[in-house]
Amino acid sequence: MKFEELNLAPAILKAVLEQGYDTPTPIQAQAIPAVLAGSDLLGGAQTGTGKTAAFTLPLLQRLSSEPRLTNRRGVNAVRALIMTPTRELAAQVEESVRTYGKYLDLTSMVMFGGVGMGAQIEKLRRGVDILVATPGRLLDHAGQGTLDLSQVQILVLDEADRMLDMGFIHDIKKVLALVPKQKQTLLFSATFSDEIRELTNSLLRNPVSIQVTPRNTTVQRITQTIHPVGRSKKKALLTHIINEHNWSQVLVFTRTKFGANNVAEHLTKAGIPAMALHGNKSQTARTQALQGFKDGNIRALVATDIAARGIDIDELPHVVNYEIPNVSEDYVHRIGRTGRAGNS
Ligand code: AMP
Repeated sequence: MKFEELNLAPAILKAVLEQGYDTPTPIQAQAIPAVLAGSDLLGGAQTGTGKTAAFTLPLLQRLSSEPRLTNRRGVNAVRALIMTPTRELAAQVEESVRTYGKYLDLTSMVMFGGVGMGAQIEKLRRGVDILVATPGRLLDHAGQGTLDLSQVQILVLDEADRMLDMGFIHDIKKVLALVPKQKQTLLFSATFSDEIRELTNSLLRNPVSIQVTPRNTTVQRITQTIHPVGRSKKKALLTHIINEHNWSQVLVFTRTKFGANNVAEHLTKAGIPAMALHGNKSQTARTQALQGFKDGNIRALVATDIAARGIDIDELPHVVNYEIPNVSEDYVHRIGRTGRAGNS
């Protein structure tokens, strides 16, 4: 199948083709027609499946083909709300919205905590059609009366399982109370716990259910190696492996923030430019670490699971489980940072 066959508007198709994509991924091929038809959607998909475009493309199409709405202030009302668990993911999703929507007359905005509210309030004042946000800051704005969600037509919950893992269930419920009952809802989740099922049952109406990439399909493209080693020699071994293979880009997972700092420091001292990425870092430091890693100035990014969630780095070649995660899903998420979009 080709993107041309999905009945997307020429302006959207052009932006997609410019990205060099001509064939939709399985979730895109299934989700796009369902969302265009107005159905609620339950997407069982992890990152790397192309899920972002799977909801962004039809969302853009629906909004651009319907009349814009204005709010009390007389500016564009928020018609689509996309919620993500992390700031990084929010930023990436909004970047995709802008990429695919570049030939459309729609405005988008990303909103997350850790940065001042002033610029966000200013942006909201000028009108926003598509809002991508993490739950905390979204509620801050709603509480202050700087954000009106009463005209939302499409709601997307991206990585819903992660949002619940991170304790956002109450925040999500509060947000649900702020958006209209009558709307189209799309929910994506890599895993389906009882809690997720409960949420989907209460939230989605006759959803089209799509499940892609059973876990082992991703895993088949990823070569996994285990190095048995005592705790005291772990850092030396990691340094050795990175040097021996001359890895230029590796994402290393630790269980704790302390561990992340500790390993990053050791690698840097050993001559491997490294940075730690975790929840105690400021937003600026996180953005810098990520940018340095993407640019190749930082060879090793040492991250905790929460910090690494949703990070999209094209063709990330190596992932190291410096410490094994507590839950098996996290292991799959971690190694899923590599082997994306058909890469091995
Ligand atoms: P996602 O699962 O949305 O995080 O996307 C994973 C990666 O796949 C991103 O780097 C996308 O840019 C890329 N991607 C999305 N759709 C396609 C496609 N149809 N063909 C090739 N790559 C894609």
